[in-house]
Amino acid sequence: MQRLLLMATVGLIRSVSSFTSSLYAAKSLLAFASSSLVTSSSSPSRYYTFDGSCQPINSNSNNRLSRRSSSTSFSHGMMSKSAGSLEVVQFPCLGDNYGYLIHDPKTGQTAAVDTPCATSYKRELDKRGWKLTHILNTHHHSDHVGGNMALKSEGVKVFGPANDGNIPGIDVRLADNDTLSFSGANAVVMDVGGHTRGHIAYYFPEEKSAFVGDSLFALGCGRMFEGTPQQFWTSLQRLRNLPDDTSIYCAHEYTESNARFAMSVEPSNPNLVRRVEEIKAKRARGEPTVPSLLGEEKATNPFLRGDISSEIRNNVCASEGEDGASIFHKLRLRKDNFRG
Ligand SMILES: [Zn+2]
Repeated sequence: MQRLLLMATVGLIRSVSSFTSSLYAAKSLLAFASSSLVTSSSSPSRYYTFDGSCQPINSNSNNRLSRRSSSTSFSHGMMSKSAGSLEVVQFPCLGDNYGYLIHDPKTGQTAAVDTPCATSYKRELDKRGWKLTHILNTHHHSDHVGGNMALKSEGVKVFGPANDGNIPGIDVRLADNDTLSFSGANAVVMDVGGHTRGHIAYYFPEEKSAFVGDSLFALGCGRMFEGTPQQFWTSLQRLRNLPDDTSIYCAHEYTESNARFAMSVEPSNPNLVRRVEEIKAKRARGEPTVPSLLGEEKATNPFLRGDISSEIRNNVCASEGEDGASIFHKLRLRKDNFRG
Protein backbone atom coordinates (compact mmCIF):
# COMPACT_ATOMS: atom_id res chain seq x y z
CA MET A 1 0.00 0.00 0.00
CA GLN A 2 1.34 3.38 -0.93
CA ARG A 3 2.29 5.47 2.04
CA LEU A 4 1.34 9.09 1.80
CA LEU A 5 2.71 11.91 3.86
CA LEU A 6 0.57 14.91 4.63
CA MET A 7 1.32 18.20 6.29
CA ALA A 8 -1.66 19.36 8.27
CA THR A 9 -2.68 22.90 9.04
CA VAL A 10 -0.86 22.86 12.34
CA GLY A 11 2.25 21.45 10.76
CA LEU A 12 1.84 17.88 11.91
CA ILE A 13 2.98 15.18 9.57
CA ARG A 14 0.50 12.39 9.16
CA SER A 15 0.75 9.16 7.32
CA VAL A 16 -2.20 8.11 5.26
CA SER A 17 -2.11 4.79 3.55
CA SER A 18 -5.53 4.10 2.24
CA PHE A 19 -6.71 6.89 -0.01
CA THR A 20 -6.65 6.36 -3.71
CA SER A 21 -7.90 9.86 -4.10
CA SER A 22 -6.80 13.43 -3.86
CA LEU A 23 -6.97 15.46 -0.72
CA TYR A 24 -6.54 19.17 -0.22
CA ALA A 25 -6.58 20.62 3.26
CA ALA A 26 -6.76 24.01 4.94
CA LYS A 27 -7.58 27.19 3.07
CA SER A 28 -7.33 25.20 -0.08
CA LEU A 29 -8.95 21.96 -1.05
CA LEU A 30 -9.33 18.55 0.49
CA ALA A 31 -10.13 16.10 -2.21
CA PHE A 32 -10.55 12.40 -1.94
CA ALA A 33 -11.52 10.73 -5.11
CA SER A 34 -9.17 11.31 -7.93
CA SER A 35 -5.72 10.18 -8.82
CA SER A 36 -3.49 11.90 -6.30
CA LEU A 37 -3.60 12.90 -2.69
CA VAL A 38 -2.84 16.54 -2.03
CA THR A 39 -3.09 18.75 0.99
CA SER A 40 -1.98 22.27 1.60
CA SER A 41 -0.44 23.65 4.73
CA SER A 42 -1.97 26.64 6.46
CA SER A 43 -0.05 28.70 3.96
CA PRO A 44 -2.03 29.11 0.77
CA SER A 45 1.17 28.99 -1.22
CA ARG A 46 2.05 25.34 -0.70
CA TYR A 47 0.57 21.93 -0.92
CA TYR A 48 1.92 18.46 -0.35
CA THR A 49 1.55 15.76 -2.91
CA PHE A 50 1.03 12.10 -2.15
CA ASP A 51 4.73 11.42 -2.37
CA GLY A 52 5.41 14.03 0.28
CA SER A 53 6.90 16.64 -2.02
CA CYS A 54 5.94 20.24 -1.54
CA GLN A 55 5.04 22.38 -4.51
CA PRO A 56 3.75 25.91 -4.87
CA ILE A 57 0.09 26.30 -5.60
CA ASN A 58 -0.44 28.39 -8.67
CA SER A 59 -3.61 29.83 -10.02
CA ASN A 60 -4.34 26.61 -11.87
CA SER A 61 -3.94 24.33 -8.89
CA ASN A 62 -7.63 23.95 -8.23
CA ASN A 63 -8.09 22.74 -11.75
CA ARG A 64 -6.10 19.67 -10.83
CA LEU A 65 -9.17 18.52 -9.00
CA SER A 66 -11.77 17.29 -11.35
CA ARG A 67 -15.18 18.72 -10.71
CA ARG A 68 -18.12 16.51 -11.34
CA SER A 69 -20.38 17.22 -14.18
CA SER A 70 -23.80 18.67 -13.65
CA SER A 71 -25.11 15.12 -13.36
CA THR A 72 -23.98 15.13 -9.74
CA SER A 73 -27.02 15.63 -7.61
CA PHE A 74 -28.40 15.06 -4.18
CA SER A 75 -31.96 14.12 -3.62
CA HIS A 76 -34.41 16.22 -1.67
CA GLY A 77 -35.71 13.16 0.06
CA MET A 78 -34.74 9.88 1.57
CA MET A 79 -32.52 8.62 -1.18
CA SER A 80 -31.23 9.40 -4.61
CA LYS A 81 -30.17 6.70 -7.04
CA SER A 82 -28.82 7.89 -10.30
CA ALA A 83 -25.92 6.50 -12.30
CA GLY A 84 -23.00 8.87 -12.21
CA SER A 85 -24.38 10.80 -9.25
CA LEU A 86 -23.62 10.93 -5.60
CA GLU A 87 -26.28 9.22 -3.59
CA VAL A 88 -27.47 10.34 -0.17
CA VAL A 89 -29.10 7.81 2.10
CA GLN A 90 -30.96 9.13 5.11
CA PHE A 91 -32.14 6.86 7.89
CA PRO A 92 -33.30 7.16 11.50
CA CYS A 93 -30.79 6.51 14.27
CA LEU A 94 -31.19 6.33 18.03
CA GLY A 95 -34.36 8.13 19.13
CA ASP A 96 -34.61 11.10 16.82
CA ASN A 97 -31.28 11.41 14.98
CA TYR A 98 -30.85 11.04 11.26
CA GLY A 99 -27.91 9.16 9.85
CA TYR A 100 -26.53 10.03 6.43
CA LEU A 101 -24.40 8.15 3.96
CA ILE A 102 -23.01 9.84 0.84
CA HIS A 103 -21.96 7.38 -1.83
CA ASP A 104 -20.24 7.68 -5.18
CA PRO A 105 -21.17 4.69 -7.33
CA LYS A 106 -18.26 5.37 -9.68
CA THR A 107 -15.49 5.17 -7.09
CA GLY A 108 -17.34 3.15 -4.46
CA GLN A 109 -16.36 5.69 -1.84
CA THR A 110 -18.86 6.24 0.93
CA ALA A 111 -18.90 8.92 3.60
CA ALA A 112 -20.87 8.88 6.82
CA VAL A 113 -22.00 12.27 8.07
CA ASP A 114 -21.68 11.80 11.83
CA THR A 115 -22.11 8.39 13.46
CA PRO A 116 -24.98 8.36 15.96
CA CYS A 117 -25.18 4.59 15.97
CA ALA A 118 -22.69 2.17 14.43
CA THR A 119 -25.27 -0.61 14.18
CA SER A 120 -27.61 1.42 11.99
CA TYR A 121 -24.78 2.54 9.76
CA LYS A 122 -23.46 -1.00 9.34
CA ARG A 123 -26.93 -2.23 8.49
CA GLU A 124 -27.40 0.45 5.83
CA LEU A 125 -23.93 -0.16 4.40
CA ASP A 126 -24.37 -3.94 4.32
CA LYS A 127 -27.80 -3.63 2.75
CA ARG A 128 -26.21 -1.90 -0.22
CA GLY A 129 -22.86 -3.66 -0.26
CA TRP A 130 -21.07 -0.37 0.36
CA LYS A 131 -17.77 0.01 2.18
CA LEU A 132 -17.32 3.01 4.41
CA THR A 133 -14.30 5.12 3.49
CA HIS A 134 -14.85 8.45 5.27
CA ILE A 135 -16.51 9.81 8.39
CA LEU A 136 -17.40 13.50 8.34
CA ASN A 137 -18.09 14.66 11.89
CA THR A 138 -19.81 17.95 12.66
CA HIS A 139 -19.17 18.14 16.42
CA HIS A 140 -18.24 16.03 19.41
CA HIS A 141 -21.57 15.14 21.02
CA SER A 142 -21.97 11.43 21.57
CA ASP A 143 -25.01 11.16 19.31
CA HIS A 144 -22.74 12.38 16.49
CA VAL A 145 -19.47 10.58 17.15
CA GLY A 146 -20.62 7.59 19.19
CA GLY A 147 -20.12 5.15 16.33
CA ASN A 148 -16.77 6.50 15.13
CA MET A 149 -14.50 3.87 16.60
CA ALA A 150 -16.79 0.96 15.83
CA LEU A 151 -17.01 2.10 12.21
CA LYS A 152 -13.38 3.09 11.82
CA SER A 153 -11.58 0.21 10.26
CA GLU A 154 -8.61 0.20 7.91
CA GLY A 155 -9.27 2.56 5.08
CA VAL A 156 -11.72 4.76 6.95
CA LYS A 157 -10.56 8.31 7.60
CA VAL A 158 -12.23 10.53 10.15
CA PHE A 159 -12.66 14.24 9.38
CA GLY A 160 -13.84 16.70 11.99
CA PRO A 161 -13.56 20.20 13.36
CA ALA A 162 -10.08 21.45 14.15
CA ASN A 163 -11.46 23.47 17.03
CA ASP A 164 -12.75 20.43 18.89
CA GLY A 165 -10.44 18.16 20.80
CA ASN A 166 -12.90 15.38 21.40
CA ILE A 167 -13.56 13.66 18.08
CA PRO A 168 -12.73 9.94 18.49
CA GLY A 169 -10.27 8.66 15.92
CA ILE A 170 -9.94 11.97 14.08
CA ASP A 171 -7.40 11.95 11.23
CA VAL A 172 -7.97 15.28 9.49
CA ARG A 173 -8.88 18.47 11.34
CA LEU A 174 -10.90 20.90 9.27
CA ALA A 175 -11.12 24.64 9.72
CA ASP A 176 -13.45 27.28 8.40
CA ASN A 177 -13.26 27.69 4.63
CA ASP A 178 -11.39 24.47 4.05
CA THR A 179 -12.80 22.72 1.05
CA LEU A 180 -12.93 19.00 0.57
CA SER A 181 -13.87 17.20 -2.56
CA PHE A 182 -15.75 13.94 -2.48
CA SER A 183 -15.30 12.39 -5.89
CA GLY A 184 -14.87 15.88 -7.23
CA ALA A 185 -17.99 17.32 -5.59
CA ASN A 186 -16.57 20.10 -3.51
CA ALA A 187 -17.73 20.68 0.04
CA VAL A 188 -16.94 23.91 1.82
CA VAL A 189 -16.33 23.60 5.54
CA MET A 190 -18.22 26.25 7.48
CA ASP A 191 -17.51 27.14 11.10
CA VAL A 192 -21.00 27.23 12.59
CA GLY A 193 -20.04 27.24 16.26
CA GLY A 194 -22.55 28.05 18.95
CA HIS A 195 -24.23 24.74 19.78
CA THR A 196 -20.66 23.64 20.54
CA ARG A 197 -17.66 25.88 20.09
CA GLY A 198 -16.11 23.78 17.35
CA HIS A 199 -19.17 22.85 15.30
CA ILE A 200 -18.70 22.71 11.52
CA ALA A 201 -21.05 22.20 8.58
CA TYR A 202 -20.31 20.63 5.21
CA TYR A 203 -21.74 22.69 2.35
CA PHE A 204 -21.78 21.19 -1.15
CA PRO A 205 -22.54 24.21 -3.37
CA GLU A 206 -22.70 22.26 -6.62
CA GLU A 207 -25.14 19.80 -5.08
CA LYS A 208 -27.05 22.59 -3.34
CA SER A 209 -26.84 20.69 -0.07
CA ALA A 210 -25.54 21.42 3.42
CA PHE A 211 -25.03 18.93 6.26
CA VAL A 212 -25.39 21.15 9.29
CA GLY A 213 -25.48 18.80 12.29
CA ASP A 214 -27.08 20.54 15.27
CA SER A 215 -26.42 24.12 14.21
CA LEU A 216 -29.64 24.69 12.26
CA PHE A 217 -32.75 22.53 12.44
CA ALA A 218 -35.95 22.61 10.43
CA LEU A 219 -37.76 25.51 12.15
CA GLY A 220 -35.19 25.60 14.93
CA CYS A 221 -31.55 25.49 15.94
CA GLY A 222 -29.46 23.57 18.46
CA ARG A 223 -29.22 24.51 22.10
CA MET A 224 -26.37 26.84 22.95
CA PHE A 225 -24.28 24.48 25.08
CA GLU A 226 -20.83 26.01 24.63
CA GLY A 227 -20.84 29.04 22.39
CA THR A 228 -21.89 32.63 22.86
CA PRO A 229 -24.97 34.36 21.46
CA GLN A 230 -22.79 36.41 19.12
CA GLN A 231 -20.96 33.31 17.87
CA PHE A 232 -24.17 31.37 17.30
CA TRP A 233 -25.90 34.30 15.65
CA THR A 234 -22.94 34.83 13.33
CA SER A 235 -23.10 31.14 12.39
CA LEU A 236 -26.82 31.31 11.66
CA GLN A 237 -26.34 34.42 9.55
CA ARG A 238 -23.70 32.61 7.51
CA LEU A 239 -26.07 29.71 6.93
CA ARG A 240 -28.84 32.17 6.11
CA ASN A 241 -26.66 33.62 3.38
CA LEU A 242 -26.56 30.33 1.45
CA PRO A 243 -28.80 30.11 -1.63
CA ASP A 244 -32.49 29.56 -0.99
CA ASP A 245 -32.51 26.28 -2.90
CA THR A 246 -29.94 24.68 -0.59
CA SER A 247 -31.20 21.48 1.01
CA ILE A 248 -30.53 21.59 4.74
CA TYR A 249 -29.70 18.14 6.12
CA CYS A 250 -29.88 18.55 9.89
CA ALA A 251 -29.29 15.82 12.44
CA HIS A 252 -32.61 15.53 14.24
CA GLU A 253 -36.32 15.17 13.61
CA TYR A 254 -37.40 17.92 16.00
CA THR A 255 -39.59 19.79 13.58
CA GLU A 256 -43.02 19.34 15.14
CA SER A 257 -41.78 20.58 18.48
CA ASN A 258 -39.93 23.42 16.79
CA ALA A 259 -43.10 24.32 14.91
CA ARG A 260 -45.04 24.77 18.14
CA PHE A 261 -42.42 27.19 19.40
CA ALA A 262 -42.24 29.05 16.08
CA MET A 263 -46.02 29.54 16.19
CA SER A 264 -45.72 30.97 19.70
CA VAL A 265 -43.46 33.79 18.55
CA GLU A 266 -44.66 34.50 15.00
CA PRO A 267 -48.24 33.24 14.65
CA SER A 268 -49.14 35.82 12.01
CA ASN A 269 -46.55 34.63 9.51
CA PRO A 270 -48.64 33.03 6.73
CA ASN A 271 -45.68 31.06 5.42
CA LEU A 272 -45.19 29.58 8.87
CA VAL A 273 -48.86 28.72 9.27
CA ARG A 274 -48.82 26.94 5.92
CA ARG A 275 -45.61 25.09 6.68
CA VAL A 276 -46.80 23.92 10.07
CA GLU A 277 -49.82 22.28 8.44
CA GLU A 278 -47.54 20.57 5.93
CA ILE A 279 -45.29 19.34 8.72
CA LYS A 280 -48.22 17.92 10.68
CA ALA A 281 -49.43 16.08 7.60
CA LYS A 282 -45.99 14.69 6.86
CA ARG A 283 -45.48 13.44 10.37
CA ALA A 284 -48.95 11.93 10.42
CA ARG A 285 -47.90 9.92 7.37
CA GLY A 286 -44.65 8.96 9.10
CA GLU A 287 -42.55 10.95 6.65
CA PRO A 288 -39.40 12.91 7.55
CA THR A 289 -39.46 16.69 7.48
CA VAL A 290 -35.73 16.74 6.78
CA PRO A 291 -34.12 17.90 4.57
CA SER A 292 -35.77 21.28 4.21
CA LEU A 293 -34.88 24.08 1.85
CA LEU A 294 -33.04 27.08 3.18
CA GLY A 295 -35.59 29.36 1.53
CA GLU A 296 -38.29 27.76 3.69
CA GLU A 297 -36.18 28.27 6.78
CA LYS A 298 -35.54 31.92 5.95
CA ALA A 299 -39.28 32.46 5.59
CA THR A 300 -40.36 30.55 8.71
CA ASN A 301 -37.56 29.65 11.14
CA PRO A 302 -37.67 32.12 14.04
CA PHE A 303 -33.97 31.71 14.75
CA LEU A 304 -33.20 33.14 11.31
CA ARG A 305 -35.78 35.90 11.60
CA GLY A 306 -35.27 37.69 14.92
CA ASP A 307 -33.70 40.70 13.23
CA ILE A 308 -36.25 40.97 10.42
CA SER A 309 -39.62 40.09 11.96
CA SER A 310 -41.32 42.83 13.94
CA GLU A 311 -43.71 40.25 15.37
CA ILE A 312 -40.85 38.21 16.82
CA ARG A 313 -39.16 41.34 18.12
CA ASN A 314 -42.36 42.36 19.89
CA ASN A 315 -42.95 38.90 21.31
CA VAL A 316 -39.51 38.67 22.88
CA CYS A 317 -39.77 42.27 24.09
CA ALA A 318 -36.77 43.47 22.07
CA SER A 319 -35.96 47.10 22.56
CA GLU A 320 -35.64 49.59 19.76
CA GLY A 321 -32.33 49.00 18.01
CA GLU A 322 -31.57 45.73 19.85
CA ASP A 323 -29.12 43.75 17.78
CA GLY A 324 -29.65 40.38 16.16
CA ALA A 325 -27.41 38.44 18.54
CA SER A 326 -29.32 39.71 21.55
CA ILE A 327 -32.69 38.90 20.00
CA PHE A 328 -31.38 35.46 19.07
CA HIS A 329 -30.32 34.94 22.69
CA LYS A 330 -33.78 35.85 23.94
CA LEU A 331 -35.34 33.44 21.46
CA ARG A 332 -32.95 30.66 22.45
CA LEU A 333 -33.63 31.10 26.17
CA ARG A 334 -37.35 31.21 25.54
CA LYS A 335 -37.18 28.00 23.52
CA ASP A 336 -35.10 26.30 26.24
CA ASN A 337 -37.94 26.89 28.66
CA PHE A 338 -40.80 26.37 26.21
CA ARG A 339 -43.38 23.79 27.16
CA GLY A 340 -45.66 23.89 24.18
ZN1 LIG B 1 -25.12 18.24 19.50
